[in-house]
Amino acid sequence: MVVDEQGKIIEVVPDATVDALKIERHEGFICPGFVNTHCHLELSFMKGKIDAGQGLHTFIKEVESLKKPNDAEVFEAIKQADEEMYANGIVAVGDISNTANSFAYKTTSKIYYHTFIEIYAFDETRADAAFERGFALQEELKKYLGSKTQQQSSITPHAPYSASTKLLGLFTTYAEKNNSVLTIHNQETADENVFFKEKKGSILDRLTYFNIPTDKWQAPGKSSLQATLPYLPANNKLQLVHNTFTNQEDISFTNNYNKNLFWCFCVNANLYIENKVPDVNLFIANNCKITLGTDSYASNWSLSIFDEIKTLHKHFPEIDWDDLLKWATLNGAKFLGIDNTFGSIEKGKTPGLNLINKDFTNIKRLV
Ligand SMILES: [Zn+2]
Repeated sequence: MVVDEQGKIIEVVPDATVDALKIERHEGFICPGFVNTHCHLELSFMKGKIDAGQGLHTFIKEVESLKKPNDAEVFEAIKQADEEMYANGIVAVGDISNTANSFAYKTTSKIYYHTFIEIYAFDETRADAAFERGFALQEELKKYLGSKTQQQSSITPHAPYSASTKLLGLFTTYAEKNNSVLTIHNQETADENVFFKEKKGSILDRLTYFNIPTDKWQAPGKSSLQATLPYLPANNKLQLVHNTFTNQEDISFTNNYNKNLFWCFCVNANLYIENKVPDVNLFIANNCKITLGTDSYASNWSLSIFDEIKTLHKHFPEIDWDDLLKWATLNGAKFLGIDNTFGSIEKGKTPGLNLINKDFTNIKRLV
């Protein structure tokens, strides 16, 4: 391929058509830059602070009780994590923000960021105030992104168990009006389904622990995904993150509600928290569009999509490298609506280029 100094693909042509003295040769495989569709950059200060393998219930309590560092520490951790992702060959990130802590930094980064402003309120009486907070955060982001704000950000729910149907309705109205892409954590633990089917288990315990009223709420008697999806938009792109406890019945159900679903796996984070990986072959058999994420430094050893690929290969050696690389590049770019620039090696794109060694054990960023 012929590439200019900024990394733009000028032409993809056979060797023989290019001046031999100008050819740079590498051993291994060249692939486009990686798209990390699920990260929480603002949580980077938690690197190494939460022990692995305790389960989500303990994990959330530990995250909540962690001493908040000062602004300079938060900023330094964001900067280091961003630089690490860049070195790891990541060119674009779908990044969850609960605060404005990362907004200024992200706009100066060499990485493209889509900011998902994440809002939660299980208590229905708090839905309007919660959504207003999301709206205020998006206004704050607008100071940095200006006219690109709607293209590069969304107001999005956290998880089925942290949103009332009223709050889901507010997301839907806003997303349909602004053609937003949405993302939601989905079925990360078995207890998420237990809560929606039977109103018991650790999620109910946690809501009680945080003094969130549940007395008027009735369990829908279905899995969390089946109970939630009908309240979300039918046509907007929607990414479901984790899917560790999603089954065939859930996937079949989704086909009737939204044809623009993307299924994001963050396997290292799943191993870190619950020590379980999703049944990835089930999603392949159902032709699901798969994307990859790192989640945050609260629950991962690294922010590297290539490390996620290697873990997937270890657990599912039968999956083709071509498929793994497509999930890590083109599918993520399509989800974020940036496949005109990123995701594949094609004339006119500036996708970033990574060199994978012959043994598929290392990557090096070329541009
Ligand atoms: Zn997450």
